[in-house]
Amino acid sequence: VVVFSALGKVTNLLEELVELYVHKSPILDDKLNEIKQRHYNIIKELFPIENEIYNIVENLFIEIDWVLEEEPNANFSYDYDQIVSVGELLSSNIMSSFLKINNFANTLIDARDFIKTDNQHQNAIIDWDFTDISIKEKVVNYPVITQGFIGCTSENFTTTLGREGSDFTAAILAYSLNASNLTIWKDVDGVLNADPRFFNKTNLLDNISFTEAIELAFYGAKVIHPKTIQPLQKKGIPLQVRSFINLDNSGTLINNTKKSSKIPYFIVKENQVLISISDNDLSFIIEEHLSWIFSLMSKFNIRLNLMQNSAVSFSICIDNDKYKVPKLIKCLSKRFSVFYNTSLTLYTIRHYTDDSIKFITKDNEILLEQKSRNTVQFVIS
Ligand code: ASP
Ligand code: MG
Repeated sequence: VVVFSALGKVTNLLEELVELYVHKSPILDDKLNEIKQRHYNIIKELFPIENEIYNIVENLFIEIDWVLEEEPNANFSYDYDQIVSVGELLSSNIMSSFLKINNFANTLIDARDFIKTDNQHQNAIIDWDFTDISIKEKVVNYPVITQGFIGCTSENFTTTLGREGSDFTAAILAYSLNASNLTIWKDVDGVLNADPRFFNKTNLLDNISFTEAIELAFYGAKVIHPKTIQPLQKKGIPLQVRSFINLDNSGTLINNTKKSSKIPYFIVKENQVLISISDNDLSFIIEEHLSWIFSLMSKFNIRLNLMQNSAVSFSICIDNDKYKVPKLIKCLSKRFSVFYNTSLTLYTIRHYTDDSIKFITKDNEILLEQKSRNTVQFVIS
């Protein structure tokens, strides 16, 4: 079974398209044409002019046209799913047809026939029982090609599983089909110990455990999403992360190993805000206050990247979301004194060493620091 994600950068372009659509932007058509052009350029290179793919691609774009002709829906996420899901439909159709003309017979199955979800658009939750049965029933004519990232509600509305959801789709399939292994093909060599956008020198991790992969993702590493790891971990299905560019490299193996790589692993989260909350009369921050603060976090769907309390204040480091953070600060200010610093960076080092700490903290002002046995975190301005 081969699961395809959208062509490179297409999901970002489609997201931009949805934004332009809901804001009724005059450059909506330009964006759509850019996306069309990207696909037509590729199919022109790959297919003779009489191939069926030209019609298929055109019809998929007509589906987008239909959405764009209507007034935007009150539910942004619903519109998002109807439009952004087309990226995967395009790429999987292109690949299936391309393989066919290269004498590689395959069955293209629409993932919406077996990935069944609730109606939480943009972040739909899998109905495992239904999905498991559907996969066993529908995914039979191998080799099968399908889309990642997309699913379908019981009322047949298209949903998406959250960004980078294609890996998750592959893991769901591996789980239900009792696959002997899953390989995720990427444009990087595998799981690196640091993001190459921030670090000149990075190392490839040969082998890490499922648990370590989940830990890394928790701190914000762009490794494999915990959602993807969980079904694989349940059945002990090994996951290989490999490069489709550098085929000589065997990449990173994620499995039940007891000997997970323990080299320092650096995770950078930019655009952080550090909020300090204290009682107006400088009294203790008591449990009742904390529970109110946490309930606000959950109400605004804010994830705490780091928290720390002292006698008189409670500090949280969160992503500086331009919608959520002002609302949160406004609410907090009703009951507490609130101070905050923006434009901060949160550095996390898993399996830290003295050198790795020096490397991160030299020349930087540290606003907050937290250390546990395996992990150290710094909020830096
Ligand atoms: N195309 C979707 C995204 O870019 C899903 C994926 O790539 O996994 O997020
Ligand atoms: Mg992708």
